[in-house]
Amino acid sequence: MAHKACLIRGDGIGPEITDAVLSIIDAAGVSIEWIEVDAGLKCVEAGEPIVPDRTIAKIAEVGLALKAPMTTPVGKGSVSPNVTLRKRLDLYACVRPVKTLPGVPTPFEGLDLVIFRENTEDVYSQIEYMQQPGVAFGTKVITEAGSERIARAAFEYARKNRRRAVICVHKANIQKICDGLFLRTFQKVAQDYPDIETWDVIVDALCMQLVTKWRNFDVLVLPNLYGDIVSDLSAGMMGGLGVAPGANFGSKAAIFEAVHGSAPKYKGLDKVNPMALLLSATLMLRHIGEEKAAKDIEGAVEKTLIKGIKTYDLHGSAKTSEFAAAVASELKG
Ligand code: NAD
Repeated sequence: MAHKACLIRGDGIGPEITDAVLSIIDAAGVSIEWIEVDAGLKCVEAGEPIVPDRTIAKIAEVGLALKAPMTTPVGKGSVSPNVTLRKRLDLYACVRPVKTLPGVPTPFEGLDLVIFRENTEDVYSQIEYMQQPGVAFGTKVITEAGSERIARAAFEYARKNRRRAVICVHKANIQKICDGLFLRTFQKVAQDYPDIETWDVIVDALCMQLVTKWRNFDVLVLPNLYGDIVSDLSAGMMGGLGVAPGANFGSKAAIFEAVHGSAPKYKGLDKVNPMALLLSATLMLRHIGEEKAAKDIEGAVEKTLIKGIKTYDLHGSAKTSEFAAAVASELKG
């Protein structure tokens, strides 16, 4: 029986990497009924919200989506489509596996982390105002419930995937109340997982240690802002935005998406790397029980890279469509 998943083709490079990924999933023999839903610039141009209510309702109904990047219009009153989806669908866990890949050059050999970023709280509450001319105030929101569910999600993942350690990242030495609550809640949850090693680290120390002792780290749990920054740092460490996958899990749905944005200057050039969205799709395949297809695709990507078929960001000359065709042909054997 075919699986059902919503599909957002996105803006900029979104449609071309989506085509590449769908052709590879098809070659892997997985049958998915894609339900295309509207979001992004075309909705704004039509005078609609960037993510219309019907799109939110459909994703909540199906419970699953693959999403290509969307452009956030710049200017007053523009809401980020990603923040909208996270808030409306309560996608509280942003999960990013960060692993070196054969054929992707990086000095961080053996890098293997999984980032659990809290996705709904912190300064992303977007409550800020000018208290008086020249003085801006902002609000950071951390709740016990929000901290508990992200910590629990990380520990459950670690147990299921036989990971060694779960590490809490914070700045509780300065943000004693907000980050103090995040850390204390993490420590309380950790008591339910005595089989997993745990410790905590201050976010600035983590950044330094990540680039010097990356093998020491395993599953990381972070509040939203630190998670946002450390995710991009880690994406760079694994080989760049072109290869970094991600997933957002929540109480109503799961959405799988690349870490990168819509890279508008490359739109229509058939140039960018579809690997980040493709590896996000393999996370989705695992989520729906298609473990073999996910493994087959990862194997085919590896063989393609080792043959030297790479896009420009990995110092190759293959076009998006050529890379996709090479992976699909590995799959078809
Ligand atoms: P970006 O990630 O779109 O692009 C930055 C640079 O990274 C590109 O110029 C390119 O050099 C490289 N890059 C990105 N994706 C690549 C790929 N697949 N292959 C090879 N190289 C790649 O970031 P930006 O330029 O800051 O943002 C562009 C738009 O995307 C903005 O409107 C931003 O708000 C939006 N955005 C969306 C998402 C999302 O939908 N999840 C995430 C980040 C940014």
